[in-house]
Amino acid sequence: MVGDGEALAPEGLQATIGVVPMGDVGEVAVRIVAAHLQTVLGLAVDILERRPVSDRCYVPDRRQYDAAKLIAALKECSASWPYLKIVAVLSVDLGVPILRFVFGEAEMGGRCAVVSGYRLRRNEDGTDAGLEVYYERLAKVALHETAHTLSLFHCDDPRCLMHFAASTKHLDRIRLFFCARCAFLLKKTVQTLLESHGP
Ligand SMILES: [Zn+2]
Ligand SMILES: [Zn+2]
Repeated sequence: MVGDGEALAPEGLQATIGVVPMGDVGEVAVRIVAAHLQTVLGLAVDILERRPVSDRCYVPDRRQYDAAKLIAALKECSASWPYLKIVAVLSVDLGVPILRFVFGEAEMGGRCAVVSGYRLRRNEDGTDAGLEVYYERLAKVALHETAHTLSLFHCDDPRCLMHFAASTKHLDRIRLFFCARCAFLLKKTVQTLLESHGP
């Protein structure tokens, strides 16, 4: 969570989420993220042109990309795009200074989020999780991070999408739904957005 990007949103934007494939993330993964954002959040989604992952965000010591820097770069390049929220989907390892790795990162109540499938392909014991589990995990992370941009905080319900998951094992315990409280908060936020920005 790195501050508030609402001030950067351009004029005339619609309540649509722009999903940006970055680097060599698979096309199916991107479509699955887009479909879940559209269905679960009830907002229109456009898949945008593929972009490279910015070298400026690479941290050689950690062999990772800095998630906060990626968000800052995304904010900069997307400043004039007519989308309410921008969600980048990647397949590189993401980190932040205080955590060894993150599945994704978002601006709390802001505009941009990044999610990566890098840590989602395998189980904790190193075995392959299988494509179906991988896609479900990626959808959960994308919904979680996008909900942060819609001002939702973490939730105590261990099965809710807004519960903080530090591992794939935790992520697998979460269902593909928001709890009643989070769903209510989200619905209110999305309704307000649709009223002020049009469908
Ligand atoms: Zn979170
Ligand atoms: Zn919840």
